[in-house]
Amino acid sequence: MKALRRFTVRAHLPERLNALAELSTNLRWSWHSPTQQLFEEIDPLLWGETERDPIGLLGAVPPGRLESLAADSGFVERLDALAADLRDYLTRPLWYQIQQEAGRSLPAGIGYFSMEFGVSEVLPNYSGGLGILAGDHLKAASDLGLPLIGVGLLYRSGYFRQSLTAEGWQAERYPSLDPQGLPLRLLTDSGGAPVLIHVSMPGSRVLRARVWIAQVGRVPLLLLDSDIPDNDPELRGVTDRLYGGDQDHRIKQEILAGIGGVRAIRAYTHEHGLPDPEVFHMNEGHAGFLGAERIRELVTTQGLDFDAALASVRSGTVFTTHTPVPAGIDRFPADLVRHYFGSTDGSPDSALLPGLPMERVLALGAEGDRSVFNMAHMGLRLGQRANGVSKLHGIVSREMFSDLWRGFDATEVPIGSVTNGVHAPTWAAREWMDLAHEVVGAQALEEARGWEQLHTVPAATLWATRNELRGQLVGEVRRRVRRSSLERGFSEAELGWTAGVFDPNVLTVGFARRVPTYKRLTLMLREPERLKRLLLDPERPVQLVVAGKSHPADDGGKALIQQIVRFADEADVRHRIVFLPDYDMSMARYLYWGCDVWLNNPLRPLEACGTSGMKSALNGGLNLSIRDGWWDEMYDGENGWAIPTADGVTDENRRDDLEAAALYELLEQSVLPKFYDRTDGVPTRWIEMVRHTLEHLGPKVLASRMVRDYTLGYYAPAAEAARAANADGYAGAKDVAVYRRRVEDTWHSVEIVQVDSEGLPDTPVIGAKLTLRAYVRLGELAPSDVVVQAVLGRVDENENLTDVRTVTMSHAGTDSLGEVFLTDTALPISGAVGYTVRVLPHHELLVGDAELGLVRTPNA
Ligand SMILES: *Cc1c(COP(=O)(O)O)cnc(C)c1O
Repeated sequence: MKALRRFTVRAHLPERLNALAELSTNLRWSWHSPTQQLFEEIDPLLWGETERDPIGLLGAVPPGRLESLAADSGFVERLDALAADLRDYLTRPLWYQIQQEAGRSLPAGIGYFSMEFGVSEVLPNYSGGLGILAGDHLKAASDLGLPLIGVGLLYRSGYFRQSLTAEGWQAERYPSLDPQGLPLRLLTDSGGAPVLIHVSMPGSRVLRARVWIAQVGRVPLLLLDSDIPDNDPELRGVTDRLYGGDQDHRIKQEILAGIGGVRAIRAYTHEHGLPDPEVFHMNEGHAGFLGAERIRELVTTQGLDFDAALASVRSGTVFTTHTPVPAGIDRFPADLVRHYFGSTDGSPDSALLPGLPMERVLALGAEGDRSVFNMAHMGLRLGQRANGVSKLHGIVSREMFSDLWRGFDATEVPIGSVTNGVHAPTWAAREWMDLAHEVVGAQALEEARGWEQLHTVPAATLWATRNELRGQLVGEVRRRVRRSSLERGFSEAELGWTAGVFDPNVLTVGFARRVPTYKRLTLMLREPERLKRLLLDPERPVQLVVAGKSHPADDGGKALIQQIVRFADEADVRHRIVFLPDYDMSMARYLYWGCDVWLNNPLRPLEACGTSGMKSALNGGLNLSIRDGWWDEMYDGENGWAIPTADGVTDENRRDDLEAAALYELLEQSVLPKFYDRTDGVPTRWIEMVRHTLEHLGPKVLASRMVRDYTLGYYAPAAEAARAANADGYAGAKDVAVYRRRVEDTWHSVEIVQVDSEGLPDTPVIGAKLTLRAYVRLGELAPSDVVVQAVLGRVDENENLTDVRTVTMSHAGTDSLGEVFLTDTALPISGAVGYTVRVLPHHELLVGDAELGLVRTPNA
């Protein structure tokens, strides 16, 4: 008989064990191995069966066992010590507080919005890299003491669970989660009633959502949930699945996350007596409507006009873009946006955001094509600060969005970069954490120092740890291959071979990631016979573990998975290559721990950053990767291998051939010899690379480094900017708004009338002085409203300037030709040199002179 509905009843804990409730509901346990050990001690078998889920464990453990633990003074002592440690972690001054005490001005609060969060496998609210990154961001923010509040949606079915059919085709399941069985509590008002967030929907309907709080160490994560009886069935389904459904479904999710998310933050800070965030960070553009909601707040409660409100919102907003793949950018038909934001009675005002003109909302996401609403463009228009997620991705993003800054070179587009990082206590194996603890002290792995101490560890110890972790992976691979084979319909009798899958002494290569085309899951199959030879080499074999989910609507991706599965099903190689279904955090961990080599072969430069290779590196795995994303900046010649890219080759087939051949060759010529050459049983050269990786990559790939970079490079300046804009009744914001309007309205009349050069001899040499005098008509603008720059650099055959340097010209009076600007400058380079002059808007509350995307050059 099937249950109509399921729910979870939490165990009644003996009073002496009350602290278990605290330890199980604060997700800090998920990166604190002593707390995990305590849970395991309660019932090791159940701990395994519940897949390491403390709440599941406490619900399943027999009451008698709890009673006897309550009487076990040793257990109770350990419990109390861990509870005290948690409280200390939650309250003691950390990096952020120490910075503040040292006088650094930092935001009183930060709102961090993301459509997915991968904090732990017990809260499966993520699909892949973006969500895991958001989870790691919260954990590192907690470890550093940031006053950050995470905001997202709680999906009833999370992403999907993947299995395989007998034919190797991906099958999807959507088991529904019961919030009662998850580490969540409801946001309630002072009377104890659940707070409900309201968002207007077309046709006078209202979408309501309750707000769950997941406690991630010190950081609360607010998750909106529309699955409540107050909503009609269609609206109840808004938070059913992550990345499921059509555009209509998706825009409702994004409206709820952005607009509802701001309202949830307001309710949370109000109920907890906390300061409101000064900075809002959009982790990708999905929650971009949060900016529109904050404009509405300012318009309706502070009486600002749209422009002043926009200036205020921009000053405190950070936007992070995550994809260099144009198809990966979230775009909606403008009519769909109009449907949700417009009014039904013909008024120009938005019904969803009363007080805002519909057309202004639409303009935030405008593209060249007015029928499209682009969430990334909205992010850039609402955030005064923006960044990509690796240095290379910063470069690619500046190119990709350069249309919004016409007239500027891509290098001047105001999009920076912060390279992603990973949370060491989550991703480094306990064995490494213990070793680091011994060698450099408790905080070592989260602090970016002390790693160099690893040179004192004997090679044999490092090798033993690598062997131990590879062994654990082999056990896990066997378990999962067996389970998957049973699911695919094979009988027990046929599965004897699964006990011999993989060998704990064989070089193990991992490849696990989502399956969009650009990641090229099947590149390794390019020359199947050559791969087979590698797998089956009698002296120096390779074993390969592959995993990854394809988006349910992407049959192309599923076909790639099937290709791998079919290859791995062959009787002659199935002990050396496996595809493990249902890639998630719990599986990923074993792969990062145990793989000797982490393979990544995306089509450069389409991988924005990539983080799985960082997690592998934290465990002494060596990266074998195309120089894309993070690897482009962190590969140093000794920490792994760079697969040469055939960048210029436009024929994709040929490019794949070339890059696959390079991959095989690296494996054959360099990777395998290093792994299998042994001195006294230890692969010395290999271990030196492992040590080098831990020492040098270790500190750079940390999420704590990333969160510090955001804090000092983005959050702190954004909070300063917001204070400057909002002080004295929003005087700064109003001033910027008036200025911006004036400049935008009159820019057409700005003109460079004439540029004269003086002082150059007939044959100038480097360093010679050049005097430039520019005559500029400014229309209604004053000389102080603009900056006039001389731009000098090399000229190519098309008269384009490269390698430019800009020199600010000073205002030297007024003349019949216009305002006069002057500079004396030394010729900086030799060869074919050229110059031009340009005018840019300038205001002290703008981050840079390119910000407004306006520039005037001669004859332009
Ligand atoms: C780290 C991680 C990812 C992201 O890895 P990429 O290198 O960015 O592809 C995806 N899924 C899981 C489960 C992860 O742990």
